[in-house]
Amino acid sequence: MARIYKRCECPEPTWRSCPHAWVVRYRTPGGRASNQREQSFTAKREADDFALKVEHDKRAHVFIDPRGGQALFRVEAETWLNRHLGADNSITTYRSVLRAHVLPAIGGKRLAAVRRDDIKTLIAAMRAKGLSASRIRAAHLVISASSAKPSGTRSSPNPPASRSNCPAS
Ligand SMILES: [Zn+2]
Repeated sequence: MARIYKRCECPEPTWRSCPHAWVVRYRTPGGRASNQREQSFTAKREADDFALKVEHDKRAHVFIDPRGGQALFRVEAETWLNRHLGADNSITTYRSVLRAHVLPAIGGKRLAAVRRDDIKTLIAAMRAKGLSASRIRAAHLVISASSAKPSGTRSSPNPPASRSNCPAS
């Protein structure tokens, strides 16, 4: 699991407000031969997104390729959640957003059948209900992580549901 922390001398409770960089430490896939890497970010959100992407990319190679998108979104999302052993409360947010909004909309679809329009419709519905930007962002992340296509088909480093739709919170 990727770890997010700061190297500065500031006490941990002040990390959210101190000006120093967030560091994501993670392992590349490959067991014993894997390497530990680090990447720095100014914004915590960027660090969170990166850590999530690292984990979901690792998982995509192992769990999604062989099944060719035939698994139900609901199953993939639960598997992903169970593997995402985040230390913070983000896991609670992801689970709650999934149960309340994402699964009722697309949980019964096969991964290969989830279209960009389905995601747009879902996000629009969440907005219409007045949900916060951070919950909408969580929905984007869960969908993106759960429905990762085999490597090589993603042309952008950003999740398929464009971040430009997500106002900063
Ligand atoms: Zn600091």
